[in-house]
Amino acid sequence: MINGLSGTMMDYQLTLTPIMKRAMQLYPNKEIRTKFGDTMHKVTYAESYRRCGQLAQALKKLGIEDGDRVGTFAWNTYRHHELYFGVPCMGAVVHTLNLRLPADQLIFIINHAEDKVIFVDDTLIKLLEPLAPQLKTVKHYIVMTHGELPETSLPNVHSYEELLAAESGDYGWPEIDENAAAAMCYTSGTTGHPKGVLYSHRAIYLHTMMVSLTDAMGLAEPDILMPVVPMFHAMAWGLVYAGTMVGCTLIYPGPHMQGADLAGLIQDEKITVTAGVPTLWLGLLQVLEAGDYNISSLQRMPVGGSAAPRSMIKAYKEKFGVDILHAWGMTEMTPVGTLSAIKSHMADWSDEAKLDLRAKQGITPPGVEMRIMDVNGEELPWDGEAMGELQVRGPAVTADYYKDERSADSFTEDGWFRTGDVSSIDSEGYMQIVDRTKDLVKSGGEWISTVELENAIMGHEDVMEAAVIAIPHPKWQERPLACVVVSDGADKAQVKAGIYDLLSKEFAKWQLPDDIEFIAEVPKTSVGKFDKKVLRKQYEGYQIAETE
Ligand code: ADP
Repeated sequence: MINGLSGTMMDYQLTLTPIMKRAMQLYPNKEIRTKFGDTMHKVTYAESYRRCGQLAQALKKLGIEDGDRVGTFAWNTYRHHELYFGVPCMGAVVHTLNLRLPADQLIFIINHAEDKVIFVDDTLIKLLEPLAPQLKTVKHYIVMTHGELPETSLPNVHSYEELLAAESGDYGWPEIDENAAAAMCYTSGTTGHPKGVLYSHRAIYLHTMMVSLTDAMGLAEPDILMPVVPMFHAMAWGLVYAGTMVGCTLIYPGPHMQGADLAGLIQDEKITVTAGVPTLWLGLLQVLEAGDYNISSLQRMPVGGSAAPRSMIKAYKEKFGVDILHAWGMTEMTPVGTLSAIKSHMADWSDEAKLDLRAKQGITPPGVEMRIMDVNGEELPWDGEAMGELQVRGPAVTADYYKDERSADSFTEDGWFRTGDVSSIDSEGYMQIVDRTKDLVKSGGEWISTVELENAIMGHEDVMEAAVIAIPHPKWQERPLACVVVSDGADKAQVKAGIYDLLSKEFAKWQLPDDIEFIAEVPKTSVGKFDKKVLRKQYEGYQIAETE
């Protein structure tokens, strides 16, 4: 609606350039540190800004123009950080490539995005080399290394540091339209073939503001922030941009993402905030419980990507005083959608009640709207009971997949994005994911949430991991099967009985898994989520005995 009167404000474009400049001007001496083996590399925001300028100048010389896609094939490092800023602020598009995807998907993604150059970490060259002959649009490969260029079969190779060293860094950053594309990322493909999302400067700018708020991730200048979520997964959940905007000290773990590495980094760098998927923190928990680390600096951890088990949230709080901020999001949402911040009137609730709330996926930050819909397209109430398809909209939600015909099914006629998740929302606005539509067990006309079953099973003290999948059933259509990993030396028969005891307290009989299979490890996706596609394939011919 136009009311006939325009506001009298400046036509100021919301782009990443002022975010980059602000850190350089206000916090020039604060550091961006990266772990490489035994050394901790350090660069200040002022130096980083200059290097971003050198990068932009070097890319111009290589022929990169406005809108060109620039691929990155890299761990979380200060150079990847420079690409996150230097590329979009010169007018091109930084395209983060998920280095853990299978070769055929990577080839598809790079050709589909038409990347012109790819920046690759020296340690990852061997992964990229076999793909290169099939990459149709890539003109240059730029290797990020400290020393000499390694031997490689990649064509048209340059050294990142040599390219930068040849430039002054005095770069006149261009004025960019806020709706221009800044970055690109494909979904991690948990349920199907990856889909591409092109983020505008405006979307990222607004998302950066949203996630930094006190009631969201609560980032502030004194924070020492370690993004463990890979920079190739959903734009590292916005942490690179938000951490820079507020001037945090940034710690990048490089390729060191195992539990012991992370425990050492939290202790030595006095990290206050870190973020990543639940499987990482389950691994870290074991290391912390077994070892002698001081992680008292750590205040909070945004955890999402898949459901954070209630038992894990409880263990971090009770044993280490760390608040897990359960978060839900999607690549399509830049990516944060909800966070489980507690409201002030809940402060005197019992610990258990607060834990119940923290185990939900949370409330929306400003800039995200959500609703749940039934199968007939009717909106469902926020009563904590009704479950339906979760739909969202907002300035940081994609309006389209990049050149993908699946876009047509992903949006409603009135402009909402269909998430493919089923959820409930309680009267306080806390959203709880019931399941992905594709993972729900459809049993005799009812739904069984695999997420809720897994969460409860992982509450058993001898259970390390649990994934529940739907198995075809002659009478009920589908029934749940639990695949469980137990700790070393646990008695499986006892654990099985214990799990059924636990579940019987929370679930109706018809919701219980028909059986429990003990497995060595739950297969994981490229970003560490439980890979139920693989599990379903493994149990394809599984026969569940017909029950009453
Ligand atoms: P992919 O769909 O390929 O896994 P994304 O990483 O963008 O790609 O995943 C988004 C999906 O991850 C959401 O739609 C949801 O199903 C799941 N997800 C994200 N965070 C959570 C969470 N906290 N709890 C449960 N599921 C989550």
